[in-house]
Amino acid sequence: MRGIFGERTEEVLRHLKVDLTWFGYMYVNSSNGHLVVSAPYLNSGDKVDIYLDVIHELCHVRQLMEGKELFESQYSHVERPTEVEAYRYTVQEAKRIGLSDERICQYLKTEWVSDSDLKRLAKAVNITCH
Ligand SMILES: [Zn+2]
Repeated sequence: MRGIFGERTEEVLRHLKVDLTWFGYMYVNSSNGHLVVSAPYLNSGDKVDIYLDVIHELCHVRQLMEGKELFESQYSHVERPTEVEAYRYTVQEAKRIGLSDERICQYLKTEWVSDSDLKRLAKAVNITCH
């Protein structure tokens, strides 16, 4: 958290609004900056995945605070600079807590990431996926 927000950590977390939804995983609503989290995912998702998702989405919260455009449509999901930055930070944290490249790949492989995109993403964040 401190790596993301520095000395603004308390202030940002105190003001961060979390909205619950009933499907999907987690994302940042770019119109109001709220973190939107699926209640079923929170209840039954893998705790490590959820933790890494929180890190990833908080990176997007910071990007929004910096005035960055989160969803520039000329990029694919895995090439968008804001995504690459968020994934890089998340993978760094995943390594810090001791996850293997294989486990990190498993985390990165979601239903909206194709095999070729996964390879590209893995390369961008400097891990090897088989
Ligand atoms: Zn993202």
